[in-house]
Amino acid sequence: MDESHKNRFKSLLREERQSLWSQRDALFDGKSHEGTEPGDVSAEYSEDEIFDRLQSIQFALGRIAAGTYGTCAKCGREISVERLEAQPTACLCLGCQLAKEAIDSGHSHSSPHRIAPLS
Ligand SMILES: [Zn+2]
Repeated sequence: MDESHKNRFKSLLREERQSLWSQRDALFDGKSHEGTEPGDVSAEYSEDEIFDRLQSIQFALGRIAAGTYGTCAKCGREISVERLEAQPTACLCLGCQLAKEAIDSGHSHSSPHRIAPLS
């Protein structure tokens, strides 16, 4: 990944972070004003999603600063620019991402109530 790509993704990430900040503010404003229906807030994401996305953006920006952006956090291979274009916060290559999703979806099949068994 060259500098121009890196700078491009950095500004993409910053733009998205800015937009998420506004959405988060809109959500909090909506809550603090009485009589405002939650539906009035035209937020793209829920509060949790905004928080999650902000975290991954911070993480990606940190990786740009550290010089590790664009390499898979798991196997160390380069993440394709096409993949980063689609998802600038990606920290795993496609192969590792698919493997992770397979594991995640495997977990979701089991009942969440069984994670903490009753004693
Ligand atoms: Zn990988």
